[in-house]
Amino acid sequence: MKNSRMSTRSIWAGERDYLAFGATQVPVVHSVSFGYDDMDEWFEVAIGNKEGHIYGRNTNPTVQAFEDKIRILEGAEAATSFSTGMAAISNTLSTFLVPGDRIVSIKDTYGGTNKIFSEFLPKNNVNVVLCETGNHEEIEKEVAKGCKILYLETPTNPTVKITDIKRMVKAAKTVGALVIVDNTFATPINQNPLTLGADLVIHSATKFLGGHADALGGAVCGPKELVETIYHYREINGATLDPMAAYLLLRGMKTLKLRIDKQNENALAVARYLKSVPEVEDVFYPGLEAHRGHDIAKQQMRGFGGMLSFSVKGGMETVRHLLPKLHFANRAANLGAVETIVGPARTTSHVECTPEERKALGIPEGLVRYSAGIEDIEDLIEDLEQAFVSLPKHLVNN
Ligand SMILES: *Cc1c(COP(=O)(O)O)cnc(C)c1O
Repeated sequence: MKNSRMSTRSIWAGERDYLAFGATQVPVVHSVSFGYDDMDEWFEVAIGNKEGHIYGRNTNPTVQAFEDKIRILEGAEAATSFSTGMAAISNTLSTFLVPGDRIVSIKDTYGGTNKIFSEFLPKNNVNVVLCETGNHEEIEKEVAKGCKILYLETPTNPTVKITDIKRMVKAAKTVGALVIVDNTFATPINQNPLTLGADLVIHSATKFLGGHADALGGAVCGPKELVETIYHYREINGATLDPMAAYLLLRGMKTLKLRIDKQNENALAVARYLKSVPEVEDVFYPGLEAHRGHDIAKQQMRGFGGMLSFSVKGGMETVRHLLPKLHFANRAANLGAVETIVGPARTTSHVECTPEERKALGIPEGLVRYSAGIEDIEDLIEDLEQAFVSLPKHLVNN
């Protein structure tokens, strides 16, 4: 794997070590336990002196193959997995944070993450400071006051704001804070936070990694010492990835590079097209030169990702007419699948927020989140064209 490239890695990483019976595909091991006739060998495996499996809540071969694949794609020393992306996030935070600790993050994190920051951590007496996303000076100032964790997500959901990872790592190192980056939107194809200096990278594997919207999962990658601590928390608390889900994610990840290249391309083309549509007020995509984070994105990302968002004239009323007209898009809450997916931010990423909270976050009520699929780009644009043409004129004539 050492000198291989991303497409080769997507296909081959984590596969060969887990084959049995001459199978060319990783078997789905459903067994919840692993038996031993030799009591001494059983003991050695149980205390970690010998490789092997004991019980499915701890480890499982199919799950380990998934962990290997994401670990190699992120260029990490170790990886562990979870039942969902939110389990990866909450377990990681719970592993390190104790009452009295301070954590610095941004206002635009994923809705569920934001709920952990606003609802659950404060209950446990953890001091949470949320800075304006993209305001690097503010984050630096808050980090300099001291914190245990600097938690970032870039690009963010749904307005795809960009944070300079290298610069934030530098600030965090001066106070000895751990830097955790949610890399779900970028994927390891477009961005590797660990090579930019971050300590841990988190994924919702449910999205681009799996890519087919048929399996939930999460992962954390980083140095062995940190990942082992997180793994220990997870093996006891039980948010384990199911072997069948691990298999589906593994299979999906074989085409990760192919899919992401196409999604990068489609998202950029759709963003450029939307810029030219009179009914569209604003387009948010880091690949557009006018985007506030474009220069940073160009430095730290190899591609700008499959996610964009746009706001329309006439707000939610227009969205209500527009989205049902699309033939080649699911109207749904997920993202990162082979199919294009659309949804209003107020019912997807930020459904947990009140209208006031969304306004404070700079999320217009008529904002549409657009997850570009791998369809032919001509079809995606023609589909949008016919949907815009069909809008009642009174909605957008201002
Ligand atoms: C979806 C998502 C999550 C949560 O992942 P689940 O698998 O749904 O629990 C976390 N972060 C980001 C950026 C996401 O898009």
